This record gives sequence, C-alpha cells and structure tokens, in this order.
Amino acid sequence: MNNVSHNDTNSKQNEALDLEDGLTAKELINKGSGLTYNDFIILPGYIDFPADSVNLTSQLTKKITLKAPLVSSPMDTVTEAEMAIAMALCGGIGIIHHNCLPAYQANEVSKVKKYKHGFIHNPLVLSPKHTVSDILKVKKQHGFCGVPITETGKLGDKLVGIVTSRDIDFLENTDYNNIKLETIMTKLDNLVTAPSGVTLTEANHILEKSKKGKLPIVNNQGNLLALMARTDLKKAKNYPIASKDDNKQLIVGAALGTREDDKERLALLAQAGVDVVVLDSSQGNSIYQIEMIKYIKQKYPGLQVIAGNVVTKKQAKNLIEAGADALRVGMGSGSICITQEVMAVGRPQATAVYKVSEYARHFGVPVIADGGIQSIGHIIKALSLGASTVMMGSLLAGTSEAPGEYFFSDGVRLKKYRGMGSIEAMDRKDAEGAAMNRYFHNEADKLKVAQGVSGSIVDKGSVLRFVPYLQCGIKHSCQDIGVRSLTDLREAMYSDNLRFELRSHSAQIEGNVHSLFSYEKRLF
Ligand code: IMP
Repeated sequence: MNNVSHNDTNSKQNEALDLEDGLTAKELINKGSGLTYNDFIILPGYIDFPADSVNLTSQLTKKITLKAPLVSSPMDTVTEAEMAIAMALCGGIGIIHHNCLPAYQANEVSKVKKYKHGFIHNPLVLSPKHTVSDILKVKKQHGFCGVPITETGKLGDKLVGIVTSRDIDFLENTDYNNIKLETIMTKLDNLVTAPSGVTLTEANHILEKSKKGKLPIVNNQGNLLALMARTDLKKAKNYPIASKDDNKQLIVGAALGTREDDKERLALLAQAGVDVVVLDSSQGNSIYQIEMIKYIKQKYPGLQVIAGNVVTKKQAKNLIEAGADALRVGMGSGSICITQEVMAVGRPQATAVYKVSEYARHFGVPVIADGGIQSIGHIIKALSLGASTVMMGSLLAGTSEAPGEYFFSDGVRLKKYRGMGSIEAMDRKDAEGAAMNRYFHNEADKLKVAQGVSGSIVDKGSVLRFVPYLQCGIKHSCQDIGVRSLTDLREAMYSDNLRFELRSHSAQIEGNVHSLFSYEKRLF
C-alpha cells in the first residue's frame, strides 16, 4: 500500500518535472483538420549563438543550392529580369513568368545571365562611323552607354576606341545624328586594355588601379574579345551571397507549360542559359507533366526541373518517379487565389507543406512552399514544416523590381498584382494571340473559369532592401528557436525536438497587436 503511494508520488513528481512540452510536427498536423500557417506557433528553444551566424543555405532542387531560401513567383506582375537579377543578387532566385512570347521570356533569361559577368563576353559594339544618336539609343534600350568601338563595329575586330558617358555628357553640338563617334570617342592611345588570358583578379586589379569605368580585353592583334565593367566589380563586392553558376553568372529559372509548343519555348530558354525550369500548373499530377519531365530529362539532362503544384503525397509520388528535381507545393493558398472557392479542391498550406515534404525527403527531393506567405513568420513556419525554400508572389509584388508602373489611388502609391488565373491575365495575349495556359488548360475550353483575382498592392521599395530584411528576420527567428541553420531546423523537426502548439482563435488575437487606440506598423 505504502509502496503504491510512494510510486504514485514519484510518478507525479516525474510528470511535474517532465520537460516535454507542446506537440511534435507529426502530432500537430495529424490532429485532423488541415492547418494554415496562422493556426500554429513554434515554441522557443535555447540561444547560445548570435543571430547573424545562422546559416540560411538551402536546396532549391537536387543540384541547386541557394544561400537564402527565397524564390520569386513566375507571375507577370512579379518576375521578369529585373526581379530575377535582384533575387539572385540577394542569394535567392527568380522564376521568369511565361505569360509572354517565348522569345521575350528567353530574352529576359539572357538579361539575367548576362547581368554580372566577371567578363562581358558579348558586349555591344559600334563602329567609328556610328553616331551619337546610336549611342543614345543604346542607352535608352539597355541602360548603359559604355560601348567599345571596333573598326567594323563587330566583336573580334580591331579595337579603335571606346565611348562612355564622359564622352557624350557635355557635348555642345546637339545635332546627334551628324556627330560621328570617331570624333568624340576616347582613342586607343588613351585606353587601358588587358590581354586575353588575363585572370579575373588581375583584370579587377587593373580596373581598380586605372580608375577607368571599362576594361576592354584584347588579343595580340589588338582585336576586341571581351569587356569588363567597373560597376560589375562594385556589385560583386556588395552582394557576397549572390546566387551564381560556375561561370560567375547569376542563376535564373523560367516557367513553362506542358503543351507540345512549350518544347520550342524550352529550347529557347535552354539556349539562353536557363538554370532551372518550373512546370507551371495549379494541379501538377497529370500525364502531361509526367511526360514533359521525362522529355526534359532526356533532352536536357543538365537542366533542373521543378514540378508541381502538388499538395498530397500521391501527387508527389508520380512527379518524383518521373524525375522531378524539386516539388512546388500549394493549391489555393495564394493571396490572389480563388481555386479553393471555385474548384473546391486544394489544401490548407501548412498541412500540404508538411505532408509533401515528409514524403519527398525520402527521395532527396526538396520542397518549395508556394503561396500564402505574408510575413517572415510564415516563411519560418513553412521551413519548420520541411520546406527547403519558399516562393512568394504578394510579398514581392509592389517592389520597384516587379514589372509594371506605380500609380496612385487615394494618395497611396500602388502597383498592379494579379493572379495568373485571373481573367485579366488569361486574356493577355502575346503577339501571336497565344493565351496563358496555366489555368486555361484546353483549346476546347472556350469559356474561361477564373481561379484568381486582379488587384493592387502597396509600394514596398526595392527588393535589394526588402529581401535582406527577410533574411535578417529568418535568422532572428532561427535564433529564438535555437537552431543554427535551416538544416538544423528541419533535423530538429524530424527528430521531434522542435515543438509546436495549436493556436486558438483568441490566441491568434492575443498574438496580434491589441488594446491600442492607434499604432504605426513599420517593419524595417
Ligand atoms: P502569394 O505569394 O500568396 O501571393 O501566392 C503566389 C502564388 O499563388 C503563386 O506562386 C502561384 O502558385 C499561385 N497563383 C498565382 N496566380 C494564381 C491564380 O490566379 N489562382 C490561384 N493561384 C495562383
């Protein structure tokens, strides 16, 4: 009797001292209803390291690693070259949308690939007989006016000079059509050049010492082979975690569909040097996508393929077996999305991310949590449920790098943001009259059923400031959780050391700002 009550006290004491708290991810997700990011919270851990030491390296695909787990969505109000360049400079990646002609999309890809070479291998070249008007056209079209001049106006021929903004800024004669470049260019005698075979470091050194803006690279005969730009040097210094390939070019992705004519689009994208393609479908588990993955893998074995979208293990299985290098997860969670309402198909995003990631990790296939990311907290929640990266639309729309012009409404500076399945986006036709095909599946579908809306979003400034803010926030969050890297975060989750808790409705209200008469919410 005595013994029993002694044991009883002991077990009560043990229970009282039991440190196990909260739920494991599995327990959390298997509670029954599907969960969204707002439905749960992560319990804090132990801090014994500074936030800025947290390592955010993560797999985008089997073969592509990013220093920041951030991807911009292939939407025509989010990602073209400018966004993709900024995302890559900040350690993430941009996926160029395909609501445009294949040639236009391929050109956006090549703008990213050409953006920041150590050397510019195919610089724009003019001849001495071209005029100042031609230089001004180049400036308008490409945004630069440092142009090497060769005898014939072609790369590979004899270098005779260079024209930079310094040569044209103070021209008094404004009859630009009649001023030949030979009269205003900086001639060869005053140029600093570097010989072919010069290393990147040597060339950097020469540029720094000469204080010139451009360094032409020439062979023994004085023929122009390449160019190096001082501005590129500066950029290389400012973005130490930029996502680059072996050739030091920024990496970029592009989206495409699964129709027969998408194979031609693919050929152009591959030619432009795209690093990864995204098969863009709201329901990716289809014979079309499986066949397209197999086709790409066979025709372009070096190209990484992101398949999707999926939200269940069964969907994931088919795409993984077909050879997908990563999966895009999300159906109906996007801010502009009405798929769940209209189609009654989809899944709450937290559950979808956990379920697919848990399955895909057994095959080494990383998951991209796509849609519904409204804050840093949502990013960390997606990563804590097994995603390797997150894809964002609304969070990046409205930045200066997003396509489209700003406009004012009621004194607020806005940009357009729309779903790719909105009638407005689907009605966008390219010059050949081809419509977008992510949601408008079949030529026979004469009537479109919208799965997205079109709206506007507030100016967020530049991605070059916003994305570092996101990264800094993710690092602080990892510190609170007590993990030093995103790999550790996932390991902690799968080993049940990362603990979660469901949030009641009132817990969510408590977690937001409350009890104030008014407040200002400045994020950074
Ligand atoms: P957001 O980050 O919450 O704005 O969601 C962006 C994601 O929504 C995209 O990456 C797509 O997966 C998805 N999406 C884009 N356009 C549509 C649409 O028209 N309907 C449904 N989902 C969309």
